[in-house]
Amino acid sequence: MKVVKARIYLLTIPLTLSFSHYLKNHLHSKSIIVELISESGLSGYGEGIARPYVTGETATKSIAYIKNKLLPAIMFKALRVIETDVNPIKSLFFTNQFFPDTHNPAIIAWNAARTAVELALLDLLLGEQKKSLQCIIPAKINHVTYSGVVPLANHKTTAEIARRLRQLNLQYIKIKVGKSNDFKRIASIRDIMGPAVSIRLDANGAFQVKEAIQFIKAVEPYRIDCFEQPVKRGDNLALVKENSSIPIMADESIITCADAQDLITRRACDYFNLRITKCGGLYNTLFIAALAKPAGIKIQLGCLIGETAILSAAGRHVAAHFPEINFVEGSYSSLLLQEDIATKNIVFGIGGIAPALTEPGLGIQVKKDLLLKYAKRVVSIPSGLRL
Ligand SMILES: [Mg+2]
Repeated sequence: MKVVKARIYLLTIPLTLSFSHYLKNHLHSKSIIVELISESGLSGYGEGIARPYVTGETATKSIAYIKNKLLPAIMFKALRVIETDVNPIKSLFFTNQFFPDTHNPAIIAWNAARTAVELALLDLLLGEQKKSLQCIIPAKINHVTYSGVVPLANHKTTAEIARRLRQLNLQYIKIKVGKSNDFKRIASIRDIMGPAVSIRLDANGAFQVKEAIQFIKAVEPYRIDCFEQPVKRGDNLALVKENSSIPIMADESIITCADAQDLITRRACDYFNLRITKCGGLYNTLFIAALAKPAGIKIQLGCLIGETAILSAAGRHVAAHFPEINFVEGSYSSLLLQEDIATKNIVFGIGGIAPALTEPGLGIQVKKDLLLKYAKRVVSIPSGLRL
């Protein structure tokens, strides 16, 4: 099988609500979708999301990197059938040969670019074989339970969103923090959700070390299960952990495998937040999860704001494979996007519950007309390729 054509779409879909955290206010999604087309005319789709404040990538740079570095390594080459091993990391290892480790001092890692191409390649190869990603990453549970997320907002909007999440009967909630009204919002959400719901916080690096330690002491009465990225990447997360009664999660601090090794060595956190596009695809995500386990570090499978059904599907497979993952985020689809791009609705239901995916490839069908409807830019390879 050979990939003979490709398209890269920069997709922006309006959000159903303005979603803010400490680093950014999002009004629409911004995904890079890669479509790889085989000789038989079948398409495989992958997605990556470039965030300058996470990996250093911009959408423009990532699209150029995909076009000039990653696709030439894949296109017009004879690709072999995927060989599956009981260890998914071994099954996915072959994807590494396509991803040169090109150093650029401004980029922490080309992880959005890599993820978009890795997922498209897997979707295409599996689609050609009419096999589900489950043949590589088998589901060990038949459903996944997702968390809700409350963005940074004023008190009134916070309460409205919390009530909506309560109506969905979600059992896990994450609250974005980093503003002066944090305590009032946390108290209000705890009151609305009731005592049994698990609540955790995410500051996206809003605090200095000393402030974070004081903040943690102040939120103890609200029974917080985890505090994510209290300080910036590169700040002394280990010192915060040492002085915290609440488990500490690394997010922006854990992007590469080297980050994982460093955090483990320094005993700097209790959790890793692994997000597939942040970590560089399924191979890297599973590789880091395998490093975490023997080190006693627990896992959250997270997501980026505005992920479409493609990254949602990839996340569903990972979450269903690891019943030991403590918290799962993602599959917000039509809850957050005005329109998603797949034929089937991937959003979770009451209780945050969604089934494992079993259909070929990543388990979803992309609607091409919606890709074109929301594409701000399309790059075709070879150029001049008709849409
Ligand atoms: Mg986070």
